[in-house]
Amino acid sequence: MTMTTKADAGCSQSCSCPQPEISGWGRRAGSRIESVLVPLTRWLPVLHGLMFVAFLVLIVGPLFAPPVPPQTSLWRDLPSLSNYLLWGLWFPLVFLSVIATGRSWCGLFCPMGAAAEWGNRFGPQWAIPGWLRWQGTPVVSFLIITILGQTVGVRDHPEAVAEIFGGTMVAAILCGFLFGRRKRAWCRHACPIGLLLGVFSRLGAVQFSPRTLLPGGEGYSEKGVCPTMIDLARKTESRHCIECFRCVTPTARGGVHLELRRPGLEIEAIRQHHANPWEVWFLFIGTGVALGGFLWLVLPQFQDWRQSLGERAVDFGWSGLLDSGPWWLMSVHPGRNEVFLWLDFVMIVGFMVGCAVLTVAVLGGLTALSALVAARCGGDGGFRRGFVELGYQYAPVAMVSLVVGLGGKLFDSLTATPIGPGGVQAIKGALFAAGLVWSIRLGERILAAQGLVPAGRSLALLPGIVGSLAVGVGWWPAIFGL
Ligand code: SF4
Ligand code: SF4
Repeated sequence: MTMTTKADAGCSQSCSCPQPEISGWGRRAGSRIESVLVPLTRWLPVLHGLMFVAFLVLIVGPLFAPPVPPQTSLWRDLPSLSNYLLWGLWFPLVFLSVIATGRSWCGLFCPMGAAAEWGNRFGPQWAIPGWLRWQGTPVVSFLIITILGQTVGVRDHPEAVAEIFGGTMVAAILCGFLFGRRKRAWCRHACPIGLLLGVFSRLGAVQFSPRTLLPGGEGYSEKGVCPTMIDLARKTESRHCIECFRCVTPTARGGVHLELRRPGLEIEAIRQHHANPWEVWFLFIGTGVALGGFLWLVLPQFQDWRQSLGERAVDFGWSGLLDSGPWWLMSVHPGRNEVFLWLDFVMIVGFMVGCAVLTVAVLGGLTALSALVAARCGGDGGFRRGFVELGYQYAPVAMVSLVVGLGGKLFDSLTATPIGPGGVQAIKGALFAAGLVWSIRLGERILAAQGLVPAGRSLALLPGIVGSLAVGVGWWPAIFGL
């Protein structure tokens, strides 16, 4: 069954708003990139095949690699090499790359999305079910993978890497096999990092736009060439575009074309780009969960709380908490002196969920305050719309925090270069300062688009500044140490 529907109710007026101006330079540069890249897309199946093989080597290879003596070079130690490539390069660079190139990782390189689409050729191609199309599905998927990744020790153990990445690959292929017709139902609806990359791609310098935008607002269509079900003639947002170039014909007068734009432009004019409350809540939740996933490892208080819960377990006879659980749910590696108990599992999950709840409360509360002040100071659109639009202002500071906090391996490796530990610290600080300033700038532009005069803007901006600083305070141990 195919369908064309309005994507959701988050953008009631976007279709009639003018699109932000793209410079002549941005259009010309986009045309040049199109003319170089479109002919190369015929090689994408080969690239995807190579990426799939590399994925298997990095994910499964370390399970069979013989032990090597300490101090062995990285190039002769497959588990360490795999770990560095995944967490020191892939993770931070994919997230940073969205600023320059949008979701190019997804469309050009990702073996998982390509495998899901390949599997679709051989499956029953059932209609995409409602539970999969539910906008909360990628949020749940992100939470499960992020939290499970921590409890099984995905950063330290090859078995956990195989479980998380291999399991996700199997789920992607299965989802692709079963649902959609020549589409990537997995990428649009369920990938654990797809939504994160999608939100951050709104900050990026690349956009694919219809040459003639039809009215009606962002839509969802299972017809047409787009693998992520974008209704191309009504496309107004970057979020779901994986940059596969299938809709681009450089010589055509109509259709979709690539443009370069100033980073942040889409969020500055977010009301014209299908602002969506699910994205905003996800931004808050995702920031909090990622923060929890980092802080439990470094906060001494976490160990105190764990100790105290353990003592209570003994006092009250909760002996089950002091047993170890299954390997697929928690880290059980006696040979490496790491065996998690149910106590550890409960503590890690509870701490990460607690951090997410706290972050949602703080950022949600401050955004609500900002929206309230904006509405009182003459902002148009009302409280609800103002809240959703202002929630996007945290995207830069959240992204930088994620990269700096969870991309620690990249920065650790730089300390051994001439940059040195001091230089690395300075780079982290500069990145965070840039994210903070960018977030504040976005907040100011969003308020200007709501029609606030400078005095009202300054007032309504204050809660947003506090929110961005709060994210920074949360990530302080990652950026500057304890
Ligand atoms: S959405 Fe996920 S699976 Fe799909 S291409 Fe992007 S990263 Fe890969
Ligand atoms: S909009 Fe075009 S480039 Fe983007 S995912 Fe759809 S078909 Fe690919």
